[in-house]
Amino acid sequence: MTAASIQRRKFLARTTQGAASAVAASMAGAAGMLTLDTAHAATHSSAVPAYLGNSPLTQPPLPFAENALDPVISTRTIGIHYGKHHRAYFDNLGKLVPGTPYADLSLEAMIMKTYNNEAHEDIFNNAGQAWNHNFYWNSLSPTPTEPSPKLRAAIERDFGSLDNLHEQLVKISAAQFGSGWGWLVSQHGKLSVMKTSNANVPFTAGKAPLLTIDVWEHAYYLDYQNRRPDYLKQVTARLINWNFASANYEKL
Ligand code: MN
Repeated sequence: MTAASIQRRKFLARTTQGAASAVAASMAGAAGMLTLDTAHAATHSSAVPAYLGNSPLTQPPLPFAENALDPVISTRTIGIHYGKHHRAYFDNLGKLVPGTPYADLSLEAMIMKTYNNEAHEDIFNNAGQAWNHNFYWNSLSPTPTEPSPKLRAAIERDFGSLDNLHEQLVKISAAQFGSGWGWLVSQHGKLSVMKTSNANVPFTAGKAPLLTIDVWEHAYYLDYQNRRPDYLKQVTARLINWNFASANYEKL
């Protein structure tokens, strides 16, 4: 084989590689389009899940009597928590929102539109906290409840057992540094536990909340002082409203 034919073979090999690269690039282009579509879908999936509804900017009534969770959560804690803390978030919104583009929105839409918007961080924080507490009261039940058969099957599939879910929820909620929330969520059909800090909600990250536990100190300090894990163990063992979590799961 002459030097020239070796060169020609190398040239052909490069050309073939070039053609292969061009095909790969075009496939990458197609894949790129798919990625864009996925990103688009992700934007949609981080919209407010429809089952969460459109909450008004008024504080809903507590779904149980103030003394109904005693002794796990005392009457005094619930009275201050619902009557002062939760109420203040709605009162603040009443001052912050009129005259802004958010005035006619539901709480959920307001949260999505002010998320990561520094100019309206105060509206996001108060709307998030108003919404989170609405969800928290409904996540608690004075009487024992059980997950529906459908939710129980999903819990056993994704956590092994309800006991392990309790353990994971306590662990992640206890690990929230500073104020925040512990959650059971669903995303792409899979259950998981997560924490959010301050006023944040799971649906800004495309996750559908099924239940929550407040881990701001005002939620437990009068009853448990610094013992946040004790509060979490008591709440998960005795107060979780599985009817609420099941109804949410079945509406997904
Ligand atoms: Mn709270």
